[in-house]
Amino acid sequence: MFNYNPTFTFASYFTHNRLIIFKIPKDRILPGVKGLRGPFSCLNNARYGISWGAIGAAQACFDSAKEYSLSRIQFDHPIASYQLVQNKLSWMLREITKAQLLAYHLSQKKDAGNWIPEHISLAKMNNVDIALEIARVARDIHGANGILDEYPVMRHMANLESVKTYEGTHDIHNLILGRHITGIQSFTRHLS
Ligand SMILES: Cc1cc2nc3c(=O)[nH]c(=O)nc-3n(C[C@H](O)[C@H](O)[C@H](O)COP(=O)(O)OP(=O)(O)OC[C@H]3O[C@@H](n4cnc5c(N)ncnc54)[C@H](O)[C@@H]3O)c2cc1C
Repeated sequence: MFNYNPTFTFASYFTHNRLIIFKIPKDRILPGVKGLRGPFSCLNNARYGISWGAIGAAQACFDSAKEYSLSRIQFDHPIASYQLVQNKLSWMLREITKAQLLAYHLSQKKDAGNWIPEHISLAKMNNVDIALEIARVARDIHGANGILDEYPVMRHMANLESVKTYEGTHDIHNLILGRHITGIQSFTRHLS
């Protein structure tokens, strides 16, 4: 087992494990599930949770950008009074609201028991994508101060870069949707 030092998600402990020959005792098998259905249902729930968590990160970046833009004076006025900055804040709020509605709609489908993996892919992919872009715009609004750990923005941006990859990369969720739309899988060159 090797340990790693990631550049983000510091709360997680990273290791490299190699399972060479192993047997799982029967009393450790998930009850009532066959094949990969059990593990995949865990992934569905984790991806669903991420679709909400990403919104929290986006909201924190928006809040910080709003507060900063109201207090930062440039050319004699708060930068929040300039139309270009308001356009950025307005776009952030619009995307956060859409992401909230998407996650809420997914939660209703989950509760009703009629969600499908493609719904979860769409929400995970979209909400992480917009949260990352919102973090970038928030960093821009903070100017050079945006790179300091005095503000939460770069921390969220770095975490979101990793969230884009784990629990199914952005590309793989796109391919899941692509297969759903067209009926053609393009994960591999093998057609089976
Ligand atoms: C912070 C963090 C925590 C993680 N936690 C866990 C965990 O708890 N358990 C666990 O099992 N794993 C975990 N992972 C691993 C994660 O699931 C993988 O990193 C992820 O699935 C991508 O695999 P990879 O790194 O091998 O990249 P690769 O599969 O090599 O992909 C590299 C790039 O190629 C793209 N790509 C790959 N295949 C295709 C294709 N067919 N078509 C188009 N593009 C493609 C990918 O989208 C990506 O952009 C974690 C990763 C991170 C960053």
